Amino acid sequence: MSVLIRGGTIVNEDGSSRADIRVRGGIIGEVASYIAPAAGERIIDAGGCLVMPGGIDPHTHLDYPFMATRTADDFFSGTSAALAGGTTAILDFIFPENGQPLRDACVEWHRRARPSVADYGFHIAVTRWDDQTESELRDLVDREGITSFKHFMAYKGGTMVGDDVLIKSFALAAKLGVLCLVHAENGDLVHYLQQKFVAEGKLGPEFHPLSRPPEVEGEAVNRAICIAEAVGARLYVVHNSCIPAIEALRRGQMRGVDVTGEALACHLAISDEVYRDCDWVFAAAHVMSPPFRPPEHQEALWAALASGVIKTTGTDHAGFRAEDRLLGRSKFTDIPNGTGSIEDRLHVLWHLGVNSGRLTPEQFVRVTSSAAARAFGLYPKKGLLAEGGDADIIIWDPAGERTIRAADQHQRTDFNLFEGMRVRGINRMTISRGDVVFEEGELSAREGRGEYLPRSANPRAA
Ligand SMILES: [Zn+2]
Repeated sequence: MSVLIRGGTIVNEDGSSRADIRVRGGIIGEVASYIAPAAGERIIDAGGCLVMPGGIDPHTHLDYPFMATRTADDFFSGTSAALAGGTTAILDFIFPENGQPLRDACVEWHRRARPSVADYGFHIAVTRWDDQTESELRDLVDREGITSFKHFMAYKGGTMVGDDVLIKSFALAAKLGVLCLVHAENGDLVHYLQQKFVAEGKLGPEFHPLSRPPEVEGEAVNRAICIAEAVGARLYVVHNSCIPAIEALRRGQMRGVDVTGEALACHLAISDEVYRDCDWVFAAAHVMSPPFRPPEHQEALWAALASGVIKTTGTDHAGFRAEDRLLGRSKFTDIPNGTGSIEDRLHVLWHLGVNSGRLTPEQFVRVTSSAAARAFGLYPKKGLLAEGGDADIIIWDPAGERTIRAADQHQRTDFNLFEGMRVRGINRMTISRGDVVFEEGELSAREGRGEYLPRSANPRAA
């Protein structure tokens, strides 16, 4: 069945115009200032609304076992929440277990992702380097279209890798035209500070951010950029949270390194005061890495996003329930790290970004969708409303209002980072590859309708 969206204003990252869109067979068939309705097609009135590309969240952890527990959302609940909030595609991370062949881990992630209702792709986490790793990675690039390698410079004794692995992996990525991702925190320094606080009997969640000060991040971002620069790799720094990280990115970009970065909706919205709340559960519910920062870092993140030093936004969605946080009741280093915002990213960015004048609607599209589509090899199939692209569309009412509440969410966490935030600008409808999957507060997506997104490598011209 074809769908005609009439009377709205189409917003792409490079401009806006009053136009109608016809969707047929899951694809955008026609965009024109006026399209006459055809017999039998569904007509959607978008008068007064903005018609924008569906969001792309390049950073999620669904159905992921971590720190003695498991994330609250699986691929069904997580992608349902994504669709409700206007996000139509996600990229999740494959983590091989100790010694597990990468191919087996990939098979396992395909199994977990099968119930997805939104489209999904994978990054592969490079957590070790042995004789097999290069051929295993080449296999995932060639046969699975996994064209981004993720590296952890933190979580010592867990997923952290040293510079030796970064160098080998970045060099391979450069050869294959694959994008390198880093979680940039100096893991040895974090470990030292954690041990120090624990030895001093400083055990509460308020010591979590103090064990990961901005220098920890700035040093690691700079180191990753220098390694990428030396071996000619393209680099993407996930979840930049502070001024030293932004400064390192800007310096790298100014000398021509192919590096960009991501900011998380929660880091833009929330400051470190949450860790000093006298309610332990509330403070612990904000434990994630990097941690929330003092307000001056938030302003710097907004500025970096508007100027393009940081190009994308994600969520690092890894929600836990209150009972999971209790694992760290006796010391903060055992609190599972992660927060969830897959459902609220677009609303928070619109409300705090566009309504305040920090971002234009076109920049909103860029930072929620188009830039991620380009960085991860999904553009122009996704991230752009134009003939021939996937019909991943949101119909956004800039005057609509609602209050974000955990009680109303589709995420399975019992907590919401933005609880009580009254937002203006709401998602009225989500269309995913031509299917109306969310409409006026109701989800109607069939389990398993999401499609896997293989991506192509982008070898740099010699
Ligand atoms: Zn993450």
